[in-house]
Amino acid sequence: MRLMAPSGHIPRRTCISCRKRFPVGQLRKFKVVGGEVTLIPHGRFEEGRGCYLCLSDSCLKKAISKNLFSRALKSPVSAPVVEIDYTKEG
Ligand SMILES: [Zn+2]
Repeated sequence: MRLMAPSGHIPRRTCISCRKRFPVGQLRKFKVVGGEVTLIPHGRFEEGRGCYLCLSDSCLKKAISKNLFSRALKSPVSAPVVEIDYTKEG
């Protein structure tokens, strides 16, 4: 009995950019608020339509430049203006 499976109860979501699946704790959630995509602050759970991006810098840039949010959310939304600063979180 040496099962090392920490992923038992952790829900996983797909990054809209790289399409890989991650535990939700390793993703950033975005939600449409007033027609604009907004980053949901970490730890806050919001109901409603949302999409997820992993913590990769390139994934965020790609999602914004190609506006993958519209596709993921199936509605025309403007990509968020996000100051890309991942240096604090490594
Ligand atoms: Zn990604």
